[in-house]
Amino acid sequence: MSAKQNNETRYTGLPISPGVVLAKVCLFKQSMHNTMPSYEVSGKGVEREKSRLAKAREIVVTRLEDLTGTVTDRIGPAEAGIFVAQKMMLQDPVLCGEMDAEIDEGCNAERALTITLDRYESQLAQLDDEYIKERASDLGELKRRLLDVLCDTSPSFECSADSKCRRGNDRVVVTEELTPSIAMEIEGNGLLGFVTERGGKTSHAAILARALGIPAISGLPDIHNQIPCGTEILLNGNTGELVVRPSAQTKAESADQIVTPERLEAVEPVKQLTVMANISTAAEAKLAAEMQAEGIGLYRTEFEFFAAGGVLDEDQQYESYRSAAMLMEGSPIYFRMLDIGADKPLDELNLPQEDNPALGFRGARLLLRRPDLMRPQARALARVSAETPVCVMYPMITGIDQFRALKQAFEEMTSDINSGRIRHGVMFEVPSACMEAQALFDEVDFASIGSNDLIQYFFAVDRNNSTVADDHRPDYEVFWRLLSNLSLTADLAGKPLSLCGELASDVQYTEKLMVNGIRTVSVSARRISEVRQAAVRAQVDRHAGAAY
Ligand code: PEP
Ligand code: MG
Repeated sequence: MSAKQNNETRYTGLPISPGVVLAKVCLFKQSMHNTMPSYEVSGKGVEREKSRLAKAREIVVTRLEDLTGTVTDRIGPAEAGIFVAQKMMLQDPVLCGEMDAEIDEGCNAERALTITLDRYESQLAQLDDEYIKERASDLGELKRRLLDVLCDTSPSFECSADSKCRRGNDRVVVTEELTPSIAMEIEGNGLLGFVTERGGKTSHAAILARALGIPAISGLPDIHNQIPCGTEILLNGNTGELVVRPSAQTKAESADQIVTPERLEAVEPVKQLTVMANISTAAEAKLAAEMQAEGIGLYRTEFEFFAAGGVLDEDQQYESYRSAAMLMEGSPIYFRMLDIGADKPLDELNLPQEDNPALGFRGARLLLRRPDLMRPQARALARVSAETPVCVMYPMITGIDQFRALKQAFEEMTSDINSGRIRHGVMFEVPSACMEAQALFDEVDFASIGSNDLIQYFFAVDRNNSTVADDHRPDYEVFWRLLSNLSLTADLAGKPLSLCGELASDVQYTEKLMVNGIRTVSVSARRISEVRQAAVRAQVDRHAGAAY
């Protein structure tokens, strides 16, 4: 959708990664292979074409393996899963057989692979499942890769000579479809944002853009042909609005929203408050380490599943968890056991439809009743513990019985593994658990307050309902009394207690948290420095808290 005002043109697309940026664009063009060679083959030509195709497949497999290594290092093993899947598709004997069968019918290699992969792509695209539809684009990418090899082409930036195009550096990249591989090819160039014609919120591109902290919009058909390289644009990844050639007035109006790329400066740990980091994927541990996080106070492991688009097996989980541990070089990591359900459903699990999912089959309850889900995660963590100490944190705990049952299940599921030191802890998110804090602290090794859910359940106010958003806040004395009781109970038991909800990232509450006995918080890595500075300003004496 577009609207013109003055010299500027406005478009509204789908916001897929938040942030606002004002920058020039750089066009990125995928090889379209519109004019690919097409000829009839017969006799010896058939074997020649099959061997060309087999060689192309081999080269693409090697490239995918290289890409898997790069993505694993720079983003994370779960995100690299897509390239592993593409490689598996390419090595699938049925798919290879169908391509060869097309050659037997007289097609050259390029046509044979195009016919076969297009057929699969259109079958997937017809299914009534958004996720599977997104995966259809993986087949398109596979086709492009094979054709790139057969036709000896490669994706390239489309730069006009006079635009002083900087190949994505300090630019917003505009492309038809942002595949994960393109993202990886241009990431690292200091790029500022993405605009794409296709790709939904669950596309890998969206997941990657969010993981990289880059604003992005998709769903703008033909945008690639409408913006010359070097044109200035204003991209709003919060609303989906794109302004091409913004006027001085538009720029002035948006000035306070525009975030120049955050130049994050690490502030060294301070004595007043221990500040750990919250992460969703292993790769985020890199930034956490750069910001000198004193550990990971919340690893939302379920997001590894969302990033990978499905359930991860024991080995895949082991790779992710191990890589986070390596990045944190021995600092503690609170691996939160899968907190799936309610606002975090995972389609693949076929969870029941519930009238009240926030009070339903989720968190600890789900873990206890789905050993098929808990077992691989417990085993992956136990394997990691053989190399570095592991802290296992159970979500949505309602009381001591649940904690005991989960700890026992964990130990039974991992009894044959030669584990190292594993600490077991709980999240305080449900009021009943807070009422049983003393009994819990007698048995747990550590605990963390999940204030997002604790406020939700304590005040019976939905954390996801914008109509009541103003009521989801901590500004009630009774809430602070609850926190103070928890910290006193932790101190008496000599057990570490932290707070990892969003409240910890909001510096207007730093001093109050410290006054109420919270001496460790866990926040987004991007907020660590700010929170440390607020802790120093607060000048609240630090009492000796329990440490490892
Ligand atoms: C919380 O509830 O405060 C918390 C940290 O967990 P999540 O936001 O992942 O539910
Ligand atoms: Mg929670």
